[in-house]
Amino acid sequence: MKVTKEFVFDAAHYLPNYEGKCERLHGHTWKLHVTVETTVKEDGLAFDFVKLKQLTMDRVVNRLDHQVVNDLVPNPSAELIALWVWHQLRDLPLSAVTVWETPTSFATCSAEDYAAWTPPTEPAVVRTREEHVRAGRS
Ligand SMILES: [Zn+2]
Repeated sequence: MKVTKEFVFDAAHYLPNYEGKCERLHGHTWKLHVTVETTVKEDGLAFDFVKLKQLTMDRVVNRLDHQVVNDLVPNPSAELIALWVWHQLRDLPLSAVTVWETPTSFATCSAEDYAAWTPPTEPAVVRTREEHVRAGRS
């Protein structure tokens, strides 16, 4: 059985390798779905929503909300954010992680996508607001 929890947060990002308006620093209201898949246990639950919420808030949402995503995720496209989220929650029985950059644009990460991905090794650099604006200026 698949169990999904939905999250919404606000955060800024820019795509340094992209030619177009997304290379400039800008913000989104992001939406996130975290889906786990396990069997339904005797208590009637496959996975406790409260536990799924708490783990995702602690490891993902509270770290990204009202931040510049580039501080944690290099080149933070919706695709790479979905992979990063999977990485933070990789000890859970994940089935899918979906990240909405806009209400009509989203990327979904599967176990296959995560297995083919190499997590970034260098720690993300925490920049000042001015450095972000400079880096995200075309
Ligand atoms: Zn964007």
